[in-house]
Amino acid sequence: MFAISPVQPMLFEQKTIFVKRDDLLHPDFSGNKARKFYHFLSHDYDHITQLVASGSAQANSLYSMSVLAKQQGWQFDYYVSHISDFILKHPNGNYAAAIANGANIIDVSQLNQGHQYQQMHLDDVVQHIIASDYDNEKSLLHIPEGGRCEYAESGVGILATEIIDWVRLHKINALKIFLPSGTGTTAAYLNKQIMQQLGSNNIKGLNIEVLTCSTVGGDDYLRQQFSQLITPAYFPTIVTDGRKYHFGKLTQRCFDMWQTVCRSGIEFELLYDPVGFLVLKHYLQQHPQWDGDILYVHQGGVLGNQTMLPRYQRKFGHTE
Ligand SMILES: *Cc1c(COP(=O)(O)O)cnc(C)c1O
Repeated sequence: MFAISPVQPMLFEQKTIFVKRDDLLHPDFSGNKARKFYHFLSHDYDHITQLVASGSAQANSLYSMSVLAKQQGWQFDYYVSHISDFILKHPNGNYAAAIANGANIIDVSQLNQGHQYQQMHLDDVVQHIIASDYDNEKSLLHIPEGGRCEYAESGVGILATEIIDWVRLHKINALKIFLPSGTGTTAAYLNKQIMQQLGSNNIKGLNIEVLTCSTVGGDDYLRQQFSQLITPAYFPTIVTDGRKYHFGKLTQRCFDMWQTVCRSGIEFELLYDPVGFLVLKHYLQQHPQWDGDILYVHQGGVLGNQTMLPRYQRKFGHTE
């Protein structure tokens, strides 16, 4: 269904690292959301007519699900707790592209029960709405926020296979894979799949470690997210630079790091990747003796830069 995504070298902190270009998987359906939603393309979902999901109005997953729904001919209702005035007046990025694909984006604070809903977690609001407002449960598919569900494993398993094949082809004997986490679903399943695939193929002597960092809510929250999907034996390694990152917060450090890595010629995205590279930089400084290879997973999401970059430029000015 997808071609194998390419791996490219990139200079980072005076070291050649490799980038797994999952952003190039497919023009409309890319990044880790394509991996996570692969299950829904590769299985029979003919009985489904309605997709329901929730999250932020600018989420990369919103756009990916709008592509999925359009391809499958599903109605798509997407619930958000708030839409900023700015994005309503200047729709762009994931939000505008999802609407162009037919997504019906519903601000729950504007519904009749909006006041009551504002006291509740968005997941609970959506459960409530599904139970009361949709008739045919059999034809409805509900994907939890960020694609955090067991269905994500099969597509992430293909990513694991591609990486193992690449490692063997290039006779790499020690590799650290780095990817920033939101819900932690991709990192959790990637590590589990790599451990299982190496085990079941009896590939000895390959030293592969999955490293990830939190971009939302801190390390304890991330571990808690892992534990909903996998057993602790499969947990990836969480690394930190000692700072707490607040999701979507615009900081000069993040902007500077994004500009630095984009000078490689690869466009990275502005929510997760700046934190990922800041933490990777710290990790490399702390482990100068590490002489194996690093593979950074580009998890897509660059369409969101249409929204994030103007916000950064309004805040910090045009520096290039
Ligand atoms: C969704 C997303 C992530 C986070 O993935 P999780 O599986 O939720 O950890 C990271 N990077 C990009 C670009 C994303 O779109």
